[in-house]
Amino acid sequence: MELMNQSVHLESELKKALAGNEFRLFYQPKVNLSTGKIEGMEALIRWEHPEKGLIPPAEFIPIAEESGLIIPMGEWVLRNACLQTKEWIESGFSPLVMSVNLSVRQLYQPNLVEAVEQILKETQLAPEYLELEITESMMVDKNLVIEVIKELRTLGVQMSLDDFGTGYSSLHYLNEFQIDSIKIDQSFIRNCTSNSYNSSIVKMIIEMAHRLNLKIVAEGVETKEELIFLQKNSCNQGQGYLFSRPLPAEEISKRILEIEEIVSQKGIFQQLHN
Ligand code: C2E
Ligand code: MG
Ligand code: MG
Ligand code: MG
Repeated sequence: MELMNQSVHLESELKKALAGNEFRLFYQPKVNLSTGKIEGMEALIRWEHPEKGLIPPAEFIPIAEESGLIIPMGEWVLRNACLQTKEWIESGFSPLVMSVNLSVRQLYQPNLVEAVEQILKETQLAPEYLELEITESMMVDKNLVIEVIKELRTLGVQMSLDDFGTGYSSLHYLNEFQIDSIKIDQSFIRNCTSNSYNSSIVKMIIEMAHRLNLKIVAEGVETKEELIFLQKNSCNQGQGYLFSRPLPAEEISKRILEIEEIVSQKGIFQQLHN
């Protein structure tokens, strides 16, 4: 009962937060591991609570999902991420692909494709600059998801499979779902240089992605050792605290050169190319 009251309370707070514009998007760069260049950004939502400060998505997405509020919230995220991408591209920071996370409920919403199309039109962002991230755990109704992905790709949007390796889907899905890239879950990247199980899994996923002609991205790259391991194994892109934590747009823009420089200063790219 207590728990239920809490979640009802949170739900009404979330509604107010959406109306009161208390949500913020933070951005985390996706770095090309062979050039060090930033090629994309992932938009990650935060709630700037007037009293409690910044609240991470894990604490409110589940309630938003349950209550259905995730639909307007998700559209808010899409619209703002598209606007920000447009702004970055116009300021010469290009080409840059923006990744937006979808929730289960959004994926199964009957007019998702129309909503995405509408937002692209409204913000005048070319569809190739938008990528949608979905996870294996969303593949409950396989045929429906295959169809939705197909329609989204017809719009020209890219599709990515997030948290790869943590779900329970069969490898068949990689063929049936027309995705463009796979993100290796950060739990495998963690200690991939010291843990031989993680090391084997990461190598295997990268190899598999290359054979299937899919782009492969590592999430949660925290150390130089992990980076070198990923580069040696030809992982295409990396994302993680080593490069940058998710930051507000203005802070990321100010740090773009720095982020690319941090990488080359560490000598990581030279080291490999010598
Ligand atoms: P995700 O999409 O897998 O995002 C990666 C999470 O890992 C982010 O947490 C990011 O801040 C964190 N991370 C990135 N690099 C590192 C690293 O080097 N080390 C560690 N320990 N963590 C790292 P965040 O922002 O708290 O988001 C958590 C999850 O919430 C996301 O996982 C995504 O599933 C969901 N989420 C975030 N924003 C949205 C959104 O706008 N819509 C929906 N539907 N879900 C969202
Ligand atoms: Mg993601
Ligand atoms: Mg992930
Ligand atoms: Mg995750």
